[in-house]
Amino acid sequence: MTPHIEKFLAEHRPQTPCLVVDLDVVEDNYHALKNALPRAEIYYAVKANPASQVLDRLAGLGSNFDVASISEVDRCLASGVDPERIAFGNTVKKQDDIATAFAQGVRLFAFDSATELEKLAVAAPGAKVFCRILVENGGAQWPLSRKFGCSARMAADLMIEARDKGLVPYGLSFHVGSQQTDPLQWQAAIGDAAMIFTTLGAAGIELGMIDLGGGFPIRYRDDVPDIQEVADTIMDGLVRSFGNRIPTVMIEPGRYLTATAGLLRTEVVLISSKDYGDDVRWVYLDVGKFGGLAETMDEAIKYPIRTLRDGDETGPVAVAGPTCDGADILYEKSGYRLPLSLKVGDQVDILNTGAYTTTYSSVGFNGFPPLKEFYL
Ligand SMILES: *Cc1c(COP(=O)(O)O)cnc(C)c1O
Repeated sequence: MTPHIEKFLAEHRPQTPCLVVDLDVVEDNYHALKNALPRAEIYYAVKANPASQVLDRLAGLGSNFDVASISEVDRCLASGVDPERIAFGNTVKKQDDIATAFAQGVRLFAFDSATELEKLAVAAPGAKVFCRILVENGGAQWPLSRKFGCSARMAADLMIEARDKGLVPYGLSFHVGSQQTDPLQWQAAIGDAAMIFTTLGAAGIELGMIDLGGGFPIRYRDDVPDIQEVADTIMDGLVRSFGNRIPTVMIEPGRYLTATAGLLRTEVVLISSKDYGDDVRWVYLDVGKFGGLAETMDEAIKYPIRTLRDGDETGPVAVAGPTCDGADILYEKSGYRLPLSLKVGDQVDILNTGAYTTTYSSVGFNGFPPLKEFYL
């Protein structure tokens, strides 16, 4: 917890559950990433946390933005972002939305299929386009699966088609999966992309950009490689695959910039056990999967949990949310332990919750309101 957040919670005692974000930490994370990988142009993945305060701060630092919808374009424009600094990175877009973004000045679009390319040729004539390729997501704690990207040979064909349709075949992108803990995954993907650069070069198309996506990991409960190690591995991959002809490098960090800036304060609603003598206590908090903690699905993201009684003797727990849905369990199998002295009414803090929480919160499932959020 940062001094800022601590002071805010002590002075305002907001009703729980609520997320408190320290914008200075977002700024620190931006600089840390920029310093680790100075070659890369940062396009913040707005979906991680689209709060205007976050966008304002990052816009002030000179960040670019990766958006997935018109509403995200509008949010960026409202924060004073030049549309030239926006990439429409979603490969699944309505043609009307492409046209709207184009009319607003957005000139850089992603695609991964012939049909999407046709839409772009009609609705964003002359725009720069980049093709997303399908890469392995091994090592990612929140994989993006096979939903996005196409094969290398299809990507090469589509880039030629892009040129023939009057678009500018600008580059290639990939995403190695979110919370990627194996930096070598970027190297493999860079190698795949470089081969397509070569194929297209032979066809007379010189691509100018490689977009390494997001996936930069942060420390939740368990250690991850630090950002310099990830960056060094990436640079090593770029040099190996492109030699001294490294193209413009884009990255689309989401989690890395905002996760560690946020703390979710919650309260214990109930502590119980399922039978006499059971040593596993069930701890029910006032926030759960539907209140913003969707990334605990399959216990994928293991948030650190802090209580005021840390230091006391602990015992095994299952941690669950307050709704009447059986899926609303945060952790049952991940070996969480909490103090035996924990009581109903205690405050419990869930750390590193600044990314992928507020927007995952339901509008009111079971009558629980959306997650409150404060930005300092
Ligand atoms: C979600 C997303 C990101 C951000 O990923 P992180 O793992 O949060 O860094 C980047 N690019 C695209 C296209 C995305 O969909």
